[in-house]
Amino acid sequence: MTQLFGLIGHPVGHSLSPAMHNDAFQRLGIDAHYQAFDIDPAQFGTAIQGLKALGIKGFNVTIPYKVDIMEHLDEIDPLAQAIGAVNTVCNVEGRYVGYNTDGEGYVKSLLQVVNEKELSAKNVLIIGAGGAAKAIFYTLASQIEQPNVIYLANRTVQKAEALIGACPIEVKAEAVSLLHAKELLQEVDIVINTTSVGMHPNIDEEPLDLQRVQEGAVVSDIIYNPLETKWLKNAGQAGAVAHNGVGMFIMQGALAFEKWTGRAPDTKAMEEIVLKHLNHKK
Ligand code: NAP
Repeated sequence: MTQLFGLIGHPVGHSLSPAMHNDAFQRLGIDAHYQAFDIDPAQFGTAIQGLKALGIKGFNVTIPYKVDIMEHLDEIDPLAQAIGAVNTVCNVEGRYVGYNTDGEGYVKSLLQVVNEKELSAKNVLIIGAGGAAKAIFYTLASQIEQPNVIYLANRTVQKAEALIGACPIEVKAEAVSLLHAKELLQEVDIVINTTSVGMHPNIDEEPLDLQRVQEGAVVSDIIYNPLETKWLKNAGQAGAVAHNGVGMFIMQGALAFEKWTGRAPDTKAMEEIVLKHLNHKK
């Protein structure tokens, strides 16, 4: 029988996950279907019960349900528990287990442009202190080669302080204001935007003035719509290495796929599908 997988969120209409996962199932000859489910917040509990009753084998979770889903699970992976959000659920013989693959997916994509062995020599600046920032911060902290220091800049500095304070892994880190972050750029090797600033339709906005960015620094934006934000374009012009959010999206999906099926999908093919859809949208 065809196995059911999916995505739950609200809204989910523009998600690229169904195209990416259904193509991967087909390539590996797995009889499965991935469906996006737009769940009305008032029906959330009932919808989850329904998916469980249908025997769904696994699903991704997106905004606004990454926290709400946790109380409906039988087990939560320690990293997801620390992050406080779940983006991937596996049905293991009727037990629903939650994971967070956002942080690991991001770090995998970052390591395509940064040598893993050199991570411990890098000063990292993360902009934002929301769910994505937390997943990335905690995953960077859990690397064998931890960064030399992680600065966390947020519009609301108290949220950055709280995020660092709640991290279960010891790591050299400091919460800073956006103003201070601008000055810090001259000693930072990797800058990561985890805010939604610059995302479609607000494509003229930028999360941080890059005037002081070092030549050769990696400037990374987890936004992938547009593919090249105004901020990334400016980074390239300033001599930095621009890194967009497509890699994170693909890798978080590939990690979920592996957990569900035990098989590694072709991430190059996934990237082609995603880029085809994003370029089509332009
Ligand atoms: P979130 O929890 O709502 O956090 C949003 C963060 O952005 C907060 O730190 C917030 O600051 C900051 N922010 C929002 N508007 C701002 C503004 N105008 N000026 C300055 N700071 C602002 O959201 P999230 O779940 O972390 O997601 C953030 C972004 O990551 C979204 O664009 C999402 O699409 C993207 N994302 C991408 C991937 C991928 O696969 N590439 C995966 C997950 C998320 P305050 O704390 O001060 O409010």
